[in-house]
Amino acid sequence: MKRIYLDYAATSPTKKSVLEAMIPYFTQDFGNPSSIYESARKSKIAVDEARKKVAKSIGADTGEIYFTSGGTESDNWAIKGIAEAYQQKGKHIITSQIEHHAVLNTCEYLEKKGYKVTYLPVDSYGQVNLDELKNAIQSDTILISIMTANNEIGTLQKVNEIGQIARENNVFFHTDAVQAIGQIPIDVKKMSIDLLTLSGHKIYGPKGMGILFIRKGIRLGSLIHGGAQEKRRRAGTENVPGIVGIGEATALSSLNLEKEAKRLTGLRDKLIKGVLDSIPYTKLNGHPIERLPNNANFSFQFIEGESLLIMLDMKGFSASSGSACTSGSLDPSHVLLGIGLPHEMAHGSLRVTLGEQSTEEDIEHLLEVLPDIVSRLREMSPLYEDFMKQK
Ligand SMILES: *Cc1c(COP(=O)(O)O)cnc(C)c1O
Repeated sequence: MKRIYLDYAATSPTKKSVLEAMIPYFTQDFGNPSSIYESARKSKIAVDEARKKVAKSIGADTGEIYFTSGGTESDNWAIKGIAEAYQQKGKHIITSQIEHHAVLNTCEYLEKKGYKVTYLPVDSYGQVNLDELKNAIQSDTILISIMTANNEIGTLQKVNEIGQIARENNVFFHTDAVQAIGQIPIDVKKMSIDLLTLSGHKIYGPKGMGILFIRKGIRLGSLIHGGAQEKRRRAGTENVPGIVGIGEATALSSLNLEKEAKRLTGLRDKLIKGVLDSIPYTKLNGHPIERLPNNANFSFQFIEGESLLIMLDMKGFSASSGSACTSGSLDPSHVLLGIGLPHEMAHGSLRVTLGEQSTEEDIEHLLEVLPDIVSRLREMSPLYEDFMKQK
């Protein structure tokens, strides 16, 4: 049976060209970039080149790009780093209720350390209200951290406007752009972004590699202390192959962006229409238009997302549920609850995220099997039985 991978928001395969670019830095050019002989110089040049590529892709200067161990570290560093460096100015941070846990749990940690955090609610599409954002800003607010695009429902935030508001109020703006990069154009200058998080493995690069863009002139406390790497801000011998990989992946992600985004949007909309037309009592989660080209997220009334995933898996599909059931917790997704779904609907969710291997046939095949699976699960559902009796 052919497996169909529909979980690109969880991770993506490393591109062959990316892997090939990385390999020499494991073997022949393995030198430590801080050393002074030839192979070390080659490593150093490779790191510099990767930094240039990343900078160019997001409209930053080369000196504003820092390599980390992933999106999680970058989120942690941005938020804890600003909190530490600017605590004299204030201890208030604004974020949203539907951020990735790398942001939410970092904010909760800071609350325990005496910081105050406002978790802005979102509307039923998952967008932050700009007036509510403005009203939340206080004289002691030091940071706004709001993601560019949500990893579960794909909703895009009005990042341009948020950047503007932050700048007008003299507050730093951090955005987690892990899901957005490669799907929508990112320009840190145009978008008034002060700090931006990227991750390698969501864009066909290596796992365990991230980037933090730090606008020039911003002070930031360090998480990792040691050697003088990354301009003394993030210690540890550089992961040269990883850096080469994430540099290559980032450059490639902006190369074909428009064409690929158009192709994926076509597939996405075919899927959305097909599902909503063929399966009753179903809702599309997230914004109908202002969403990532590759993301579709549905709630099917009366069923459990977990059972749906298992049955899809048996048919060869790798997809994901918005609910955290899969990770061993029975709590429904904070994002789906955040957009106002009742618990049952939040439990019955399915996230399909497309990528470079996704084809028209994949969508057609999914549309062939999904209505049947949902019907079968509903036939076993006491909720559905009650509902039909009442009808
Ligand atoms: C995957 C993801 C992260 C975490 O990135 P890692 O590189 O896996 O640590 C952070 N934010 C968002 C929105 C993500 O999707």
